[in-house]
Amino acid sequence: MCDIADEAAQLEEHNIRVALANIKKPEPRATECQFCGDDELMPGSNYCSPECCRKHELRQRRMM
Ligand SMILES: [Zn+2]
Repeated sequence: MCDIADEAAQLEEHNIRVALANIKKPEPRATECQFCGDDELMPGSNYCSPECCRKHELRQRRMM
């Protein structure tokens, strides 16, 4: 009985590890504008301007 319980616990631990490994990691901070490729980004943004952010979102929405 004890062995089966141990095995179950180990399997559960394994499953949790696999699940954690599969969680998508946050994308690395971009070094250039995701829309036009300009390397001068707004602070804390992946875009050089609000305009590029908006256009990139629009473009992605059209792709879906
Ligand atoms: Zn840009």
